[in-house]
Amino acid sequence: MTTESRILDLIHESVITRDPAGIILSWNAASEALYGWPKTTAIGCQIDDLLQSRFAAAAPDRDLMAPPADWEGELIRVTANGTELVLDVRWQAERDATGAVLRIVETARDITERKAIDDALRLSEYRYRNMFEAMAVAFWEVDFTQVGAMLIPLRDQGVTDLRTWLLANRDFVRRTMERAIVLDLNLNGFALFGADTRDAIIGRAIADFWPPASEPVYIDSLVATMTRQPHIVSETRLNRVDGEPIDVLFTVSLSENNRKRGVMLIGVVDISARKQAEAALQRLQAEFAHAARVSVLGELTASLAHEVNQPLAAIATSASASMRWLAAEQPDLDEVRSLSARIVSDARRAAAIINRVRAMAERRETERQYLPLNQLVAEAVAFLDHDLAMRAVTLETRLASELPPVLVDRTQLHQIVVNLVVNAAQAMADSPTRHLCITTSLAEGAVVLAVEDSGPGLPAHPEQLFESFFTTKSSGMGMGLAICRSLIEAHGGQIVAANGAVGARFIVTLPITPRS
Ligand code: ADP
Repeated sequence: MTTESRILDLIHESVITRDPAGIILSWNAASEALYGWPKTTAIGCQIDDLLQSRFAAAAPDRDLMAPPADWEGELIRVTANGTELVLDVRWQAERDATGAVLRIVETARDITERKAIDDALRLSEYRYRNMFEAMAVAFWEVDFTQVGAMLIPLRDQGVTDLRTWLLANRDFVRRTMERAIVLDLNLNGFALFGADTRDAIIGRAIADFWPPASEPVYIDSLVATMTRQPHIVSETRLNRVDGEPIDVLFTVSLSENNRKRGVMLIGVVDISARKQAEAALQRLQAEFAHAARVSVLGELTASLAHEVNQPLAAIATSASASMRWLAAEQPDLDEVRSLSARIVSDARRAAAIINRVRAMAERRETERQYLPLNQLVAEAVAFLDHDLAMRAVTLETRLASELPPVLVDRTQLHQIVVNLVVNAAQAMADSPTRHLCITTSLAEGAVVLAVEDSGPGLPAHPEQLFESFFTTKSSGMGMGLAICRSLIEAHGGQIVAANGAVGARFIVTLPITPRS
């Protein structure tokens, strides 16, 4: 064995020398290990016949029939046991004085595994791109590195409740939005946001698409990033390129990988159509609720007329008494003064009744406020006092003290109570004792209103009563309870019916919504 071949055997890389025709002249130990052919077999063979060489990427200048003498690139070869290898190969020619090739030295490295990993990576990148582009969802890739850099010092400054702090520091929030840059957007995203060109969105700050009213959702995503929540989903409103608002379902994916890269993946689904349908449904519901209120008012007309008549009659009496006092030889002005004061208070009473009727009859947009349930019950009952008295119904109220206020529409809540009370009073028409009990109480995360009567109890399965047009009354519409349920559910609450100790019991649960 020559010194040269001894040295070559020490090298971990495959080293082969061959003549210009490709006949193998030397074959080191690493080549034996790599290709599985012993030196004795390999030497003297044509290299490309032995190893079934082909170029990894075909190209006109890479013709194995006339291979270049000096070359480097990737080859595919087959080993003695039939395994295909991808090799990183380098050929170098030894030439004589005339420049003719004497022999070619080849070194080769097995890159099969690296290639497989590269291919897998490329495939997964390709799949990701495909998904990114083809999804029916608009995807934004946003660079949050600068935002992260702005948020981290807050912790050192002693900000513990990040959400509250950000809600109170909207200028800071806006500044972070101006530094959150859109890196990429898929096709759906361009369509959804009405962008004609990539530049219309890519490279711009998300502040441009984020109206101030939607900042709380953005704040939630910042908090989610900082507290390492995996993702958040929320509904919000964003702006298109032309400034038109769109209602969207917004998801932020905060994978560990993206977090490390400072990238936030935001998915946006257009829900404008759903929102419009919801709004139309809400309008329809409001119309129905209004119709039902007017119909209850119709049922109450007799008692309401009577109720307004009372102060009017009292006013007439007081006025004629005053006139008599004034007509006396010595007018008693003190009497007249006190009668006038009574006239004023009676007139106010009549006006208050008419206002209540007007509020019930009015058709208007719903408007939610934080209101105490007990006060709402008292207002609704005041409306019905006279009706209950005429029907000889005794009313008991057991109102829990210190209930948290509920976020409700005042007129709708009145309507719910009035409906339940009128139903109870009607159900007790033939009962020997007519007792009505209204209770308010606190449950977990909710306030509860119960209306219980001493009537005959429910005429059917409790759930049936809430179906539209279910009625047992000759002049009933069967819409009252159906509307009560839809109004209560629109407030995030529930209503159920059951038989109580004596009569029927309706229980309304309304969620306690924290003020944001
Ligand atoms: P309507 O009052 O027009 O019949 P509702 O939807 O308000 O429509 O009520 C549906 C039905 O539920 C009533 O017809 C009645 O049979 C029953 N119902 C409602 N409240 C009570 C109650 N307190 N006791 C017994 N039955 C009741």
